Amino acid sequence: MASTTFTSPGAKVRPGEYIDHVLSQVKAKNPAEPEYHQAVQEVLDSLRLVLQKHPEYQSARILERMVEPERVIMFRVPWFDDHGDVQVNRGYRIEMNSAIGPYKGGLRFHPSVNLGILKFLAFEQVFKNSLTTLMMGGGKGGSDFDPKGKSDNEVMRFCQSFMTELFRHIGPDTDVPAGDIGVGGREVGFLFGQYKRLKNEFTGVLTGKGLNWGGSLIRPEATGYGCVYFAAEMLKTRGDSLEGKTCLVSGSGNVSQYTAEKLLDLGAKPVTLSDSSGMIFDPDGIDREKLAWVKDLKNMRRGRIREYAEHFRKADFAPADAAQDHNPLWGIKADCAFPSATQNEINAKDAGNLIKNGVKVVAEGANMPSTAEATQLFLDAGILYGPAKAANAGGVATSGLEMAQNSMRLSWTREEVDKRLHSIMSSIHKTCFETAEIYGTPGNLVNGANIGGFLKVANAMLDQGLV
Ligand code: NDP
Repeated sequence: MASTTFTSPGAKVRPGEYIDHVLSQVKAKNPAEPEYHQAVQEVLDSLRLVLQKHPEYQSARILERMVEPERVIMFRVPWFDDHGDVQVNRGYRIEMNSAIGPYKGGLRFHPSVNLGILKFLAFEQVFKNSLTTLMMGGGKGGSDFDPKGKSDNEVMRFCQSFMTELFRHIGPDTDVPAGDIGVGGREVGFLFGQYKRLKNEFTGVLTGKGLNWGGSLIRPEATGYGCVYFAAEMLKTRGDSLEGKTCLVSGSGNVSQYTAEKLLDLGAKPVTLSDSSGMIFDPDGIDREKLAWVKDLKNMRRGRIREYAEHFRKADFAPADAAQDHNPLWGIKADCAFPSATQNEINAKDAGNLIKNGVKVVAEGANMPSTAEATQLFLDAGILYGPAKAANAGGVATSGLEMAQNSMRLSWTREEVDKRLHSIMSSIHKTCFETAEIYGTPGNLVNGANIGGFLKVANAMLDQGLV
């Protein structure tokens, strides 16, 4: 606990009403940002247990300060398409909280990107980064630019224009972006090249870099591998393992591919993948050969998941249907579910279907993939539920390891990084598990992750005074 503290005579709200007061302020001050409200509500609900024991956080108005980003940058990104026509997108960087280290968090390029979605992601990132035990604050950014269907040259021109504004706000000791949806190795390369050119500096300003120019081994694999390690830790608490388990994986991008890969390593059987156009179900399992085919489809040819069912004839394809009130992927009988595509992809109906079919584990590779109602159903059913900010923290943790290697100007071996990733995921699970017990909600890793992540940041904020 922090040794120094201060009180605010202005904090007049009665202690029992403090959380609801902050929540209503967040909704009033940030209208039309439902994802941000959802992420804040989930964390603050867990913190009711903490605030009763620690009135000093209310005195210092820590919650009001945490829900207000330290800085929001929003900018125009003009670029020429291949026809010579001018295109204009909007760029963002949310610098949410730097109490325990430089801002750290990915960039998302997707047409659905808006301020509220990036604020939810940046807010989650603060607690996730704290759980990793590394010194990283929280941030997130991106653009409504859609890389799908664009040529490599168009993506490069967009990335160069995006970085021409962003470069003045970031730096290896200030803010270190990485990838997220729509931002993979290709985009990080173009962004890094433009940063280096503008600053005339070769520094570790981005993570997820190529291996021969400062990247870390295992960084591409880390979020998926880490999520599977987390699921294995959860199963261990019930004397069980992933061996022989049938697993549902959604998405088919970075996180999904390496989730499926690690599941195969540990003897499990992934049977589904998806993208925004639909899902495939392969009852025989997606083995290593089929997974290699998917990686080529998605990372090289940039094709659609439907082609899997055209190529491997025993698999079924179901097109996405926004009019349906549930996602058929979560209706398939399985032992484990790894949502790895996007936010709110599991609603209450989907959660009900998973539970009805006897799912034992839900480990979230994507950020906030379960709606608030779905989360509550998982908790009520007593299944092993690993919330995103704990289960998918392996990606940012390995970004932290990339930053460490860049600072020391050396590269660790694959085995060394994987060992560290594994040990970080075990320690995150231990923190969540033990914190949930200490605060009287054993087995509730949502409370464990939210409280475990919060305490370190809140105490650092108390130590550092009103800034
Ligand atoms: P990718 O862009 O590599 O893959 C995203 C996948 O999800 C694609 O298959 C994509 O399909 C699908 N998808 C995206 N948006 C939608 C949507 N609105 N509806 C249906 N499908 C959708 O991204 P990542 O794998 O990197 O990220 C996936 C999730 O994991 C995100 O929630 C991200 O925030 C989270 N995450 C990622 C980390 C990382 O290290 N990359 C770290 C921690 C969390 P399509 O191609 O058709 O759009």
